[in-house]
Amino acid sequence: MNHDDIVMIECADDISGRPSFHEKLIFEEGVRGFDKILGVYRFKDTWIRCGISDCRENHLHGYLISTTDGLETVIGKDCGKKIFSVEFVEQMKIVDAFHSRRRKIETVKKLKNELTYVLVAVENLQRSNIDLSELKDQFKGAVPPGTLSLLQERARKGNTAIMQTVRMTKSEWAAHREVNRSTERQRHSRGFKEISIGELRGLDYLLGNSEIIIITSLLNPLRDLAKLKDHEMDDLDNSRISTWAKLANELPQRIKTAQTFINDGYKFFTESNLLELKKLDIDMGPLRFLIQNLPKTAA
Ligand SMILES: [Zn+2]
Repeated sequence: MNHDDIVMIECADDISGRPSFHEKLIFEEGVRGFDKILGVYRFKDTWIRCGISDCRENHLHGYLISTTDGLETVIGKDCGKKIFSVEFVEQMKIVDAFHSRRRKIETVKKLKNELTYVLVAVENLQRSNIDLSELKDQFKGAVPPGTLSLLQERARKGNTAIMQTVRMTKSEWAAHREVNRSTERQRHSRGFKEISIGELRGLDYLLGNSEIIIITSLLNPLRDLAKLKDHEMDDLDNSRISTWAKLANELPQRIKTAQTFINDGYKFFTESNLLELKKLDIDMGPLRFLIQNLPKTAA
Protein backbone atom coordinates (compact mmCIF):
# COMPACT_ATOMS: atom_id res chain seq x y z
CA MET A 1 0.00 0.00 0.00
CA ASN A 2 1.45 3.34 -1.10
CA HIS A 3 0.77 6.46 0.97
CA ASP A 4 0.34 8.53 -2.18
CA ASP A 5 -2.69 6.41 -3.08
CA ILE A 6 -4.53 7.19 0.15
CA VAL A 7 -7.58 9.34 -0.58
CA MET A 8 -7.82 12.52 1.49
CA ILE A 9 -11.29 12.80 2.98
CA GLU A 10 -12.10 16.17 4.56
CA CYS A 11 -15.90 16.20 4.21
CA ALA A 12 -18.82 13.96 3.25
CA ASP A 13 -18.71 15.22 -0.36
CA ASP A 14 -15.21 13.79 -0.72
CA ILE A 15 -16.90 10.40 -0.33
CA SER A 16 -20.30 10.81 -2.02
CA GLY A 17 -18.81 12.79 -4.90
CA ARG A 18 -16.67 9.90 -6.09
CA PRO A 19 -17.94 8.36 -9.39
CA SER A 20 -17.73 4.75 -8.19
CA PHE A 21 -19.24 5.43 -4.77
CA HIS A 22 -22.33 3.50 -3.69
CA GLU A 23 -24.20 4.25 -0.48
CA LYS A 24 -24.82 0.55 0.11
CA LEU A 25 -23.60 -2.65 -1.44
CA ILE A 26 -24.30 -6.35 -1.01
CA PHE A 27 -21.16 -8.40 -0.44
CA GLU A 28 -21.35 -11.99 -1.58
CA GLU A 29 -18.60 -14.54 -1.87
CA GLY A 30 -17.47 -15.04 -5.45
CA VAL A 31 -19.49 -12.03 -6.60
CA ARG A 32 -18.22 -9.03 -4.69
CA GLY A 33 -15.54 -8.83 -2.05
CA PHE A 34 -13.20 -6.41 -0.30
CA ASP A 35 -10.40 -5.03 -2.46
CA LYS A 36 -8.65 -2.38 -0.35
CA ILE A 37 -9.03 0.58 1.99
CA LEU A 38 -8.82 3.82 0.01
CA GLY A 39 -9.01 6.28 2.89
CA VAL A 40 -10.27 7.03 6.38
CA TYR A 41 -12.73 9.66 7.56
CA ARG A 42 -12.92 11.17 11.03
CA PHE A 43 -15.66 13.75 11.28
CA LYS A 44 -16.72 15.75 14.30
CA ASP A 45 -20.42 16.03 13.51
CA THR A 46 -21.14 14.32 10.19
CA TRP A 47 -22.47 10.79 10.50
CA ILE A 48 -22.02 8.44 7.55
CA ARG A 49 -24.03 5.23 7.23
CA CYS A 50 -22.18 1.95 6.86
CA GLY A 51 -22.39 0.71 3.27
CA ILE A 52 -22.88 -2.96 4.18
CA SER A 53 -26.47 -3.41 3.05
CA ASP A 54 -27.66 -5.23 6.16
CA CYS A 55 -25.77 -2.99 8.63
CA ARG A 56 -26.36 0.70 7.77
CA GLU A 57 -25.12 1.88 11.17
CA ASN A 58 -24.10 5.55 11.52
CA HIS A 59 -20.44 6.33 12.12
CA LEU A 60 -18.39 9.50 12.66
CA HIS A 61 -15.30 7.48 11.86
CA GLY A 62 -15.00 4.88 9.11
CA TYR A 63 -13.22 3.78 5.97
CA LEU A 64 -13.72 4.26 2.25
CA ILE A 65 -13.10 0.92 0.57
CA SER A 66 -13.01 -0.45 -2.97
CA THR A 67 -14.53 -3.76 -3.99
CA THR A 68 -13.30 -6.59 -6.21
CA ASP A 69 -15.73 -5.48 -8.93
CA GLY A 70 -14.45 -1.88 -8.96
CA LEU A 71 -17.07 -0.15 -6.82
CA GLU A 72 -16.63 1.91 -3.64
CA THR A 73 -18.48 2.29 -0.34
CA VAL A 74 -17.83 3.21 3.30
CA ILE A 75 -17.82 0.90 6.29
CA GLY A 76 -17.25 1.12 10.00
CA LYS A 77 -14.32 -0.50 11.77
CA ASP A 78 -16.37 -3.31 13.32
CA CYS A 79 -17.94 -4.36 10.03
CA GLY A 80 -14.53 -4.28 8.39
CA LYS A 81 -13.02 -6.55 11.03
CA LYS A 82 -16.01 -8.88 11.08
CA ILE A 83 -16.58 -9.25 7.36
CA PHE A 84 -13.18 -8.66 5.78
CA SER A 85 -11.01 -9.85 8.69
CA VAL A 86 -7.21 -9.87 8.66
CA GLU A 87 -6.50 -8.06 5.42
CA PHE A 88 -8.79 -5.21 6.39
CA VAL A 89 -7.20 -4.89 9.84
CA GLU A 90 -3.69 -4.79 8.36
CA GLN A 91 -4.60 -2.04 5.91
CA MET A 92 -6.56 -0.20 8.59
CA LYS A 93 -3.44 0.10 10.75
CA ILE A 94 -1.45 1.60 7.86
CA VAL A 95 -4.16 4.09 6.90
CA ASP A 96 -4.81 5.08 10.54
CA ALA A 97 -1.12 5.70 11.18
CA PHE A 98 -0.83 7.75 8.01
CA HIS A 99 -3.93 9.75 8.87
CA SER A 100 -2.73 10.44 12.41
CA ARG A 101 0.68 11.60 11.19
CA ARG A 102 -0.91 13.85 8.57
CA ARG A 103 -3.15 15.41 11.22
CA LYS A 104 -0.16 16.13 13.43
CA ILE A 105 1.83 17.65 10.59
CA GLU A 106 -1.12 19.92 9.79
CA THR A 107 -1.29 20.99 13.45
CA VAL A 108 2.42 21.82 13.50
CA LYS A 109 2.27 23.68 10.17
CA LYS A 110 -0.59 25.75 11.56
CA LEU A 111 1.52 26.67 14.57
CA LYS A 112 4.42 27.48 12.27
CA ASN A 113 2.21 29.91 10.31
CA GLU A 114 1.30 31.71 13.53
CA LEU A 115 4.80 31.57 14.92
CA THR A 116 5.69 35.24 14.36
CA TYR A 117 2.88 36.28 16.72
CA VAL A 118 3.51 33.44 19.15
CA LEU A 119 7.20 34.33 19.45
CA VAL A 120 6.41 38.00 20.10
CA ALA A 121 3.93 36.99 22.81
CA VAL A 122 6.39 34.62 24.48
CA GLU A 123 9.28 37.13 24.28
CA ASN A 124 7.05 39.79 25.89
CA LEU A 125 6.16 37.39 28.67
CA GLN A 126 9.83 36.67 29.23
CA ARG A 127 10.71 40.38 29.46
CA SER A 128 7.84 41.07 31.85
CA ASN A 129 8.92 38.14 33.95
CA ILE A 130 12.45 39.51 34.32
CA ASP A 131 11.12 42.96 35.32
CA LEU A 132 8.70 41.49 37.84
CA SER A 133 11.33 39.16 39.31
CA GLU A 134 13.49 42.19 40.08
CA LEU A 135 10.57 43.89 41.82
CA LYS A 136 9.89 40.72 43.79
CA ASP A 137 13.53 40.54 44.94
CA GLN A 138 13.43 44.18 46.06
CA PHE A 139 10.13 43.52 47.82
CA LYS A 140 11.54 40.51 49.67
CA GLY A 141 14.46 42.62 50.84
CA ALA A 142 12.22 45.44 52.05
CA VAL A 143 9.57 43.65 54.09
CA PRO A 144 10.06 42.08 57.52
CA PRO A 145 10.87 38.36 57.59
CA GLY A 146 7.76 36.22 57.35
CA THR A 147 5.80 38.78 55.35
CA LEU A 148 6.21 36.95 52.08
CA SER A 149 5.13 33.60 53.51
CA LEU A 150 2.17 35.32 55.19
CA LEU A 151 1.08 36.75 51.83
CA GLN A 152 1.71 33.42 50.10
CA GLU A 153 -0.48 31.72 52.66
CA ARG A 154 -3.23 34.25 51.91
CA ALA A 155 -2.82 33.53 48.17
CA ARG A 156 -3.15 29.79 48.70
CA LYS A 157 -6.36 30.32 50.65
CA GLY A 158 -7.69 32.92 48.22
CA ASN A 159 -7.84 35.24 51.23
CA THR A 160 -7.47 38.67 49.63
CA ALA A 161 -9.61 40.81 51.96
CA ILE A 162 -7.98 42.69 54.83
CA MET A 163 -10.32 42.43 57.78
CA GLN A 164 -10.56 44.38 61.00
CA THR A 165 -12.38 43.52 64.19
CA VAL A 166 -14.64 46.34 65.39
CA ARG A 167 -17.30 46.68 68.05
CA MET A 168 -20.89 46.20 66.88
CA THR A 169 -23.24 49.18 66.97
CA LYS A 170 -25.98 49.13 69.61
CA SER A 171 -28.64 48.10 67.13
CA GLU A 172 -26.42 45.39 65.57
CA TRP A 173 -25.73 44.04 69.02
CA ALA A 174 -29.42 43.99 69.85
CA ALA A 175 -30.20 42.13 66.64
CA HIS A 176 -27.34 39.72 67.24
CA ARG A 177 -28.56 38.92 70.75
CA GLU A 178 -32.08 38.39 69.45
CA VAL A 179 -30.87 35.72 67.04
CA ASN A 180 -28.40 34.12 69.45
CA ARG A 181 -30.57 34.42 72.54
CA SER A 182 -29.48 31.22 74.27
CA THR A 183 -25.70 31.60 73.86
CA GLU A 184 -25.46 35.36 74.38
CA ARG A 185 -27.72 35.60 77.40
CA GLN A 186 -24.86 36.00 79.86
CA ARG A 187 -22.99 38.73 78.00
CA HIS A 188 -23.80 42.34 78.63
CA SER A 189 -21.00 44.20 76.88
CA ARG A 190 -21.33 44.73 73.14
CA GLY A 191 -19.83 42.06 70.84
CA PHE A 192 -17.43 42.39 67.95
CA LYS A 193 -17.67 41.91 64.21
CA GLU A 194 -15.27 41.65 61.29
CA ILE A 195 -15.31 44.26 58.55
CA SER A 196 -13.33 44.45 55.33
CA ILE A 197 -10.98 47.45 55.24
CA GLY A 198 -8.99 46.60 52.16
CA GLU A 199 -8.27 44.20 49.34
CA LEU A 200 -4.98 42.80 48.07
CA ARG A 201 -4.62 42.19 44.35
CA GLY A 202 -2.36 39.88 42.38
CA LEU A 203 -1.33 37.75 45.38
CA ASP A 204 -1.11 34.64 43.19
CA TYR A 205 2.01 36.14 41.63
CA LEU A 206 3.85 35.47 44.88
CA LEU A 207 3.14 31.74 44.73
CA GLY A 208 5.74 30.86 42.13
CA ASN A 209 6.78 31.08 38.56
CA SER A 210 6.56 27.55 37.17
CA GLU A 211 4.05 28.69 34.53
CA ILE A 212 6.38 31.29 33.15
CA ILE A 213 9.41 29.00 33.28
CA ILE A 214 7.52 26.46 31.17
CA ILE A 215 6.61 29.02 28.58
CA THR A 216 9.98 30.79 28.35
CA SER A 217 11.72 27.41 28.13
CA LEU A 218 9.81 27.02 24.86
CA LEU A 219 11.50 30.02 23.26
CA ASN A 220 14.41 28.07 21.82
CA PRO A 221 12.34 25.13 20.54
CA LEU A 222 9.94 27.61 18.93
CA ARG A 223 12.83 29.43 17.26
CA ASP A 224 14.02 26.06 15.94
CA LEU A 225 10.57 25.38 14.54
CA ALA A 226 10.58 28.77 12.83
CA LYS A 227 13.74 27.77 10.95
CA LEU A 228 12.28 24.47 9.77
CA LYS A 229 11.14 24.37 6.14
CA ASP A 230 7.73 22.88 5.34
CA HIS A 231 9.22 20.06 3.25
CA GLU A 232 11.63 19.23 6.08
CA MET A 233 8.63 18.84 8.34
CA ASP A 234 7.16 16.20 6.02
CA ASP A 235 10.33 14.16 6.51
CA LEU A 236 10.58 14.38 10.31
CA ASP A 237 10.28 11.13 12.21
CA ASN A 238 7.03 10.33 13.99
CA SER A 239 8.29 11.00 17.49
CA ARG A 240 9.43 14.54 16.65
CA ILE A 241 6.18 15.27 14.83
CA SER A 242 4.23 13.97 17.83
CA THR A 243 6.24 16.14 20.23
CA TRP A 244 5.64 19.23 18.11
CA ALA A 245 1.94 18.48 17.67
CA LYS A 246 1.50 18.02 21.42
CA LEU A 247 3.25 21.32 22.02
CA ALA A 248 1.12 23.04 19.38
CA ASN A 249 -2.03 21.78 21.07
CA GLU A 250 -0.94 22.84 24.55
CA LEU A 251 0.59 26.18 23.65
CA PRO A 252 -2.52 28.42 23.70
CA GLN A 253 -3.44 27.30 27.22
CA ARG A 254 0.15 27.57 28.43
CA ILE A 255 0.48 31.11 27.10
CA LYS A 256 -2.83 32.02 28.74
CA THR A 257 -1.69 30.65 32.10
CA ALA A 258 1.63 32.47 31.88
CA GLN A 259 -0.17 35.68 30.88
CA THR A 260 -2.43 35.40 33.96
CA PHE A 261 0.67 34.99 36.13
CA ILE A 262 2.30 38.10 34.65
CA ASN A 263 -0.94 40.08 34.96
CA ASP A 264 -1.11 39.13 38.63
CA GLY A 265 2.45 40.39 39.05
CA TYR A 266 1.52 43.77 37.59
CA LYS A 267 -1.58 43.90 39.79
CA PHE A 268 0.50 43.22 42.89
CA PHE A 269 3.20 45.77 42.13
CA THR A 270 1.08 48.91 42.00
CA GLU A 271 1.32 51.80 44.41
CA SER A 272 -2.24 51.45 45.67
CA ASN A 273 -1.86 47.73 46.23
CA LEU A 274 1.43 47.98 48.10
CA LEU A 275 0.02 50.77 50.26
CA GLU A 276 -2.72 48.34 51.38
CA LEU A 277 0.00 46.43 53.26
CA LYS A 278 -0.01 49.24 55.84
CA LYS A 279 -3.35 47.84 56.97
CA LEU A 280 -1.59 44.56 57.81
CA ASP A 281 0.70 46.55 60.15
CA ILE A 282 3.68 46.08 57.87
CA ASP A 283 6.37 48.74 58.27
CA MET A 284 6.13 50.78 55.09
CA GLY A 285 9.38 52.68 55.54
CA PRO A 286 11.67 50.25 53.71
CA LEU A 287 9.02 49.84 50.97
CA ARG A 288 8.94 53.52 50.15
CA PHE A 289 11.81 53.34 47.66
CA LEU A 290 10.20 50.43 45.80
CA ILE A 291 6.83 52.17 45.68
CA GLN A 292 8.36 55.41 44.36
CA ASN A 293 10.25 53.55 41.65
CA LEU A 294 7.57 51.23 40.34
CA PRO A 295 7.85 50.95 36.54
CA LYS A 296 5.48 53.16 34.59
CA THR A 297 4.27 50.17 32.61
CA ALA A 298 2.85 48.51 35.71
CA ALA A 299 -0.88 49.14 35.78
ZN1 LIG B 1 -21.49 -1.69 9.43
